[in-house]
Amino acid sequence: MKKPTFTAQGDASADIVIVGSGVVGGLMANELVSQGYSVLVLEAGLRIDRAQAVENWRNMPFANRAGSDFQGLYPQSKFAPAPLYFPPNNYVNVTGPNASSFQQGYLRTVGGTTWHWAASCWRHHPSDFVMQSKYGVGRDWPISYDELEPWYCRAENEIGVAGPNDPHMQSPVERSQPYPMDMVPFAHGDNYFASVVNPHGYNLVPIPQGRSTRPWEGRPTCCGNNNCQPICPIGAMYNGIHHIERAERNGAVVLAEAVVYKIDTDGNNRITAVHWKDASGASHKASGKAFALACNGIETPRLLLLSANGGNPNGIANGSDMVGRNMMDHSGFHCSFLTEEPVWLGRGPAQSSCMVGYRDGEFRRDYSANKMILNNISRVVAATQQALKKGLVGKALDEEIRYRSVHSVDISISLEPLPIRKPLNPK
Ligand SMILES: Cc1cc2nc3c(=O)[nH]c(=O)nc-3n(C[C@H](O)[C@H](O)[C@H](O)COP(=O)(O)OP(=O)(O)OC[C@H]3O[C@@H](n4cnc5c(N)ncnc54)[C@H](O)[C@@H]3O)c2cc1C
Ligand code: SF4
Repeated sequence: MKKPTFTAQGDASADIVIVGSGVVGGLMANELVSQGYSVLVLEAGLRIDRAQAVENWRNMPFANRAGSDFQGLYPQSKFAPAPLYFPPNNYVNVTGPNASSFQQGYLRTVGGTTWHWAASCWRHHPSDFVMQSKYGVGRDWPISYDELEPWYCRAENEIGVAGPNDPHMQSPVERSQPYPMDMVPFAHGDNYFASVVNPHGYNLVPIPQGRSTRPWEGRPTCCGNNNCQPICPIGAMYNGIHHIERAERNGAVVLAEAVVYKIDTDGNNRITAVHWKDASGASHKASGKAFALACNGIETPRLLLLSANGGNPNGIANGSDMVGRNMMDHSGFHCSFLTEEPVWLGRGPAQSSCMVGYRDGEFRRDYSANKMILNNISRVVAATQQALKKGLVGKALDEEIRYRSVHSVDISISLEPLPIRKPLNPK
């Protein structure tokens, strides 16, 4: 087993140096260490103890839970705090009209943001790769869905995805292999909703889930009790930490509280080292043969731009001037209502089924595709807030909470913003 080496001053050397220990860093670390390379992972955030984080969530004030404070239960490193909702720390300072609505929720921890993701494991639709040639909008990708398809299969096997193997329930249907595990069974709410919307072409299908429906690589079977966001108490939901722990067992070294702040390049403009600061503020250097920046869609461009040097005045790897531009999120909105029949949402994963009838079609020439998720997070907190707002007390309050908890629906509608090139520092 080949290991990174360290000097007495704490500088490091490894075949591969990976910055960031999220799902991307974890997958790479495990793959490369398994091929015999020495691998060092530098992670800005803290190590998380799952049981402690679950306990932190249980003990959170009602306002935080009602406000989806999915970050607050994860202990924060002093030098690398995540963007927080409670209290808001404006960590990602976005400017422009409606900028305040762009609230980021990523984590800075060993294991990264997938600690609290919803674990929906969608593939792109084949049309997404050819939007310009097919619908005259956006850009075509330089690769096709068919080229990527075998890699989707590999990723689904690594993550352990449970999805529908009945083609009528798949989106997209173009697959060369079945899902590694069959779908998480529909709960009453999914079946009821499908019976209402499917006759109208909305096509409610099971969401492919990064959850185990049978024991998988040390993960237990999902028991469906709906705590996935902000944390799965039993680890049935896939998190990047699963690959980080596998990589460590295979010989990778993962340093927590190691904030990378500078990248060195040589005369050929190849990266030779990265510099990090440890929890005491001391600086160290990691040299390597190859480097991977896996800090996520916001932090990776930030580090590249921050590392500008004489040979790279606009930042590292930015000859195209595209670093930090064209970021797209799945903007969208929610729609909540009460139903006549009880739906009993809240049994099963936080997101279990989705309407995909308008994922693709000629209409994309004129307006965005959409994905409408039947949000399966238990409705009890929202029901309680609404009932309290009505000023009810005693038995009436209790009855209102019960009624709303089983009759209310929240649909989460995601849209597809296309990239717009804008100057980074508009004058
Ligand atoms: C609430 C929520 C729900 C989501 N649900 C889904 C979903 O259902 N399906 C889906 O496909 N996607 C979902 N996403 C998106 C998904 O979680 C991210 O795309 C994914 O986690 C990105 O993985 P990553 O490894 O690139 O980055 P991350 O998981 O964010 O990991 C990056 C790591 O790099 C570290 N880092 C950053 N800068 C430095 C530095 N300078 N030095 C050292 N370390 C550094 C960070 O601390 C972090 O731990 C969700 C995101 C959120 C916030
Ligand atoms: S429903 Fe969510 S929280 Fe519960 S076991 Fe399954 S994945 Fe974990």
